[in-house]
Amino acid sequence: MIAASSPTDHNRLSSSGAPPPGWQALLRQAVTDPAELLRMLDLGPQWLEPARQAAAIFGLKTPRGFVARMRKGDPADPLLLQVLPLHAELQAIPGYVADPVGDLASTQGAGLLHKYTGRALLVTTGACAVHCRYCFRREFPYSEHLAAAANWQPALQAIAADDDIHEVILSGGDPLSLADHKLRALTDGLQTIPHVRRLRIHTRYPIVLPERIDKSFQQWLRALPWRVAIVIHANHANEIDARVEQALAGLTACGATLLNQSVLLRRVNDEADALITLSEKLFTAGVLPYYLHLLDPVRGAAHFDVEAGVAADLMRTMAARLSGYLVPRLVREQAGAPYKTPVAW
Ligand SMILES: *Cc1c(COP(=O)(O)O)cnc(C)c1O
Ligand code: SF4
Repeated sequence: MIAASSPTDHNRLSSSGAPPPGWQALLRQAVTDPAELLRMLDLGPQWLEPARQAAAIFGLKTPRGFVARMRKGDPADPLLLQVLPLHAELQAIPGYVADPVGDLASTQGAGLLHKYTGRALLVTTGACAVHCRYCFRREFPYSEHLAAAANWQPALQAIAADDDIHEVILSGGDPLSLADHKLRALTDGLQTIPHVRRLRIHTRYPIVLPERIDKSFQQWLRALPWRVAIVIHANHANEIDARVEQALAGLTACGATLLNQSVLLRRVNDEADALITLSEKLFTAGVLPYYLHLLDPVRGAAHFDVEAGVAADLMRTMAARLSGYLVPRLVREQAGAPYKTPVAW
């Protein structure tokens, strides 16, 4: 068979002769049907109806490569629990609300969230590679608050007009959902603003769809004029396999500084061993722990909550067993606070 590929694709041909699917194809193939996810993991039908009901509010979405890292037949798998819609999401719990961190109040239009001095966060897209059940933006009205990817001008003008903004944070949704040419159009515009000195990218792609870190993406990253911090988002060591390590090495090779933020989640990573193993595995992959967030009280996620007292115990155990630089900072986000609030332990 003669593959209709460009010459640069030749080294990527698999043994079958076909090029491996690109990240956009893999994204389209993500699992969105609860019945299929349960079938892939040999889980019984008792999970199906609740999953369908909860998915009607916030859909299931998980790349197949992420599913492949889950244990079959284990409804308590720490990766599965992050993505499987559960009946518990449907219960109304006092204090758990749609916008727990006050993002709507901080939106300045043009998709720019300027909550903290010196840095501003750009909501570049509402799309993500995965739907995390605990996400504090699960009900964020993205369509009304996007820095329109078709036209970055309003966002660029807002950044240019505020010379307090030294660091631009690409966020979302997940900014790596945008095609490379859209990212390039944005950073070309940012390069014309002299007070922008740093770029930061918050993304789960290197973890959940590591194929996103392809040659074209790395060319874009390498050509940026700033030092770039990339904050990945892993909650459990099982998320990091050889393919993920390869993607992370690719980012490091482009000169990026890699940091990780986790959310402390009941039954996912609320044990000292899980957190310690995560920190060690991250470091081996070239990533330093940054934040460990207490759960934002978003509607539908109360079953993930870990009490601050339990979190403090976990921090003390971690500090006693890990090098200081492998201990993340325990924080919570409080609407109106001038920075992520440190939680004492
Ligand atoms: C979390 C966040 C930041 C970044 O805060 P750091 O403490 O610098 O990581 C910036 N802007 C917004 C709106 C945020 O939510
Ligand atoms: S990738 Fe981030 S923004 Fe997207 S659903 Fe997960 S936590 Fe939320």
